[in-house]
Amino acid sequence: MGKIIVGEKAGFCFGVERALNIALESRKKHNLPVYILGSLIHNPRVVADLESQGIKTISDLQTIEGGGVLLIRSHGAGPQIFARAEQLGLKVIDATCPFVKQEQNLAKGLLRDGYQVMVVGDAQHPEVQAVVESVSNQAIVVNPSTLDALSKIRFSPKVGIVCQTTQNQEKLKLVVGMLLPLVKELKVYNTICNATRERQAETYDLARKAALLLVVGGKNSANTCKLAEIGSSLIPTYHIESIDEIKPQWLEGKNLIGVTAGASTPQEQISEVVDWLKLNLAGGIDMEENQIKSEQLTEEVNKIEASEPAVENGEMRLDQEIPLLEEGSIVEGIIVAVGDDEVAVNVGGKSDLEIPLRELTAEKISSAREV
Ligand code: SF4
Repeated sequence: MGKIIVGEKAGFCFGVERALNIALESRKKHNLPVYILGSLIHNPRVVADLESQGIKTISDLQTIEGGGVLLIRSHGAGPQIFARAEQLGLKVIDATCPFVKQEQNLAKGLLRDGYQVMVVGDAQHPEVQAVVESVSNQAIVVNPSTLDALSKIRFSPKVGIVCQTTQNQEKLKLVVGMLLPLVKELKVYNTICNATRERQAETYDLARKAALLLVVGGKNSANTCKLAEIGSSLIPTYHIESIDEIKPQWLEGKNLIGVTAGASTPQEQISEVVDWLKLNLAGGIDMEENQIKSEQLTEEVNKIEASEPAVENGEMRLDQEIPLLEEGSIVEGIIVAVGDDEVAVNVGGKSDLEIPLRELTAEKISSAREV
C-alpha cells in the first residue's frame, strides 16, 4: 500500500488568488477588454483560461487599440507603466500583491533615508524590475546564485536590503552574511512573503518524510522552481506541469509520495496529479493527508492591506477621491514613511506629500524620528 501526502500550502497563494479575482471582476464590471502586461501568473493553463474569458496577456502597451482596462499583475509594475497607461487613456486597476507593494514602499523608504538600495533576487524577474523602477532605477540587484558579483560592487557606507518575495530564506542569509564585512551599516528588510516561507518550509518537511516529491506548476514559475530545488536537495523530485509528464518508473519502489505546488498552480491541476497517483500507484493508496486548503489569508496580509491605501479594492490611487486642498482646511492622511529629514504623508493622491524636518515642529530636533 502506498501513501500520498499533499502539502497544505500547495496551490494559489493569497496574492495570486486576489489578482485573479480582480481580473475576473474587472472584466464583468467594466465590460471592456482587460489587458495584462505580462502573464498574470506563471501558469500557462491559467493564462489560456483567462484569454478565453476576454482577459488578454500582452507584451507591449502599444499593441492596445481602442482603450480598455490595464490590470497590473501581482508582481507589480514601475511608475512608468502607470504613467504610460494613463497617457493612453486606459483605466488602470492595480492587482499588485500587498506584499510586493510593501517591498516597493520599503525600498523607497531606504532610498529616502540615504541607503544604497539592494534588491536580492533575479534581475530578470518582473517583480524585481518593478521594485527597481519604483526607486527610479537607483538600486542594485544581487542574485544569490551568482554571489561572485558582490566583490565587484562598490558599496556605500549605508546599504539597505529588500528581497524578492519568492526568494529562498537561506539564500538571503547567505547574501547578508557576505555583505556584513563589506559595509558599515546594513539594514535588512526580510520581504520574503509568508506564503513563500510557509510553502518552502513545508516542502522541506515533505521531502524529509517522502521517498519521492512531485512539484506541480508552470516551468516558468520562479516560486515553483524553488520548491523543486528544495525537494531535489533531499530526495528524487520532479517538476511537472501535468500528469502527461509523470513516468510510472519514477514511482517504482516508492511507497510514500509527496505532492506540492507553486503559488500559481490551480487546485484542479493538483487534484489531477493526486487522482492519477491514486489510480496508478502499485498496490493502491493507503491514505492521503493534508487536504488542500483554499483559505490562506493571514493576519499579516490583512494588516498590510489595511495600511496600504494604494491597493484598496484593487483600485490604484489615481481613481481615489483626493480631498480638496485649500488654505485653512484640515485633511486626514496616512504617514507612509518617516526619514531623518522628512515625513511622507499620503492624503489620497497619486504622490505622497513630504513634510520637511524644519516644518514638523518648533522644537530643535535632528531627525523626524524624534517627533
Ligand atoms: S507569493 Fe507571496 S508575494 Fe507573491 S503573490 Fe503570492 S502572496 Fe504575494
